[in-house]
Amino acid sequence: MDLRVDAGAATSSTELEALESRIALLTELTSRVESLRQNPAYLRPTAASASSASIAAVVPALGQAALVRQGFEHIKEFADKVQSERVQDVLKAAKEREAKDQSDLRASRRRQHLKRERAASPESPQPYRSFQPKTSPFPPDDTVSTPLRMDGLVEYIQAYNKEHPFRLHIWTATPRASGQRLSDEAIIRFTIRDVLTIFLTVGCTASDPTLVVEGATAFGPREKKPPHAQSGFVVFQRLSQYLAKMLQAHPQVSLPLFMVLLAAYEDLFIRRCSACERVIGVEGHVPPVARVWLAGAWDARHPACLQSKAADVGAQ
Ligand SMILES: [Zn+2]
Repeated sequence: MDLRVDAGAATSSTELEALESRIALLTELTSRVESLRQNPAYLRPTAASASSASIAAVVPALGQAALVRQGFEHIKEFADKVQSERVQDVLKAAKEREAKDQSDLRASRRRQHLKRERAASPESPQPYRSFQPKTSPFPPDDTVSTPLRMDGLVEYIQAYNKEHPFRLHIWTATPRASGQRLSDEAIIRFTIRDVLTIFLTVGCTASDPTLVVEGATAFGPREKKPPHAQSGFVVFQRLSQYLAKMLQAHPQVSLPLFMVLLAAYEDLFIRRCSACERVIGVEGHVPPVARVWLAGAWDARHPACLQSKAADVGAQ
């Protein structure tokens, strides 16, 4: 009887040790992920006070290249480790245990969630909530009196390029013969030099010939990708997501009004978020990609910071 108890105790203590070492390994991997998430911050401008300089101009090119190289090396090391047999075994064991019984997991996740809500501050990553604009995110629309139609698009673009430091251009997959008529849909490329490129899909319906913006996808200024692709950079992916949400909430937005919003991205990489007062946000390590029209001016926010304090000011 005594022997059996001892044997049982010995087995469970070995099991316990194995479990502890697995947990230690997984904890180490988690903290590595956290440190890898710092990598995109290498792009953070060192002189955020330079109000109109682009990010490329303020980050010393050589130092940045070394940091980026190091960042990629760390990612590769991490990938190798995750693919190793030992880690794969541990992950598999964890998955099997979770499938068998996840009651404790749910309870601890709930506890963690409560703790996080209590401790939420602008410095800590906030749980993501989808953006529900309380007011129109656009400035008052004074373009309604002269609705823009497809037959006026070329003229509009020429006038826009004369009046703004940014560039609009009708994009076609194949060169468009001059004088060729535009159909009821067009893709327009919008460029802010050294900051971004945005492809806009504009169109109209047979019943209403007014041009509305149907889609917008953002890319890096030197990315050579077609309009239907996705940017390789998280910041432009987030910006595309934000613009998509805006268009979903305001499906009838006219091109001239949408252009007023897009011009507000000139300071994308240097503008601080008005909620957390950081350029690079804690969550996702990207600059504030949201722009909301508040009290007569553009307010910049990280999407995760849209719900906090001053966002309510404009709701009245
Ligand atoms: Zn923020």
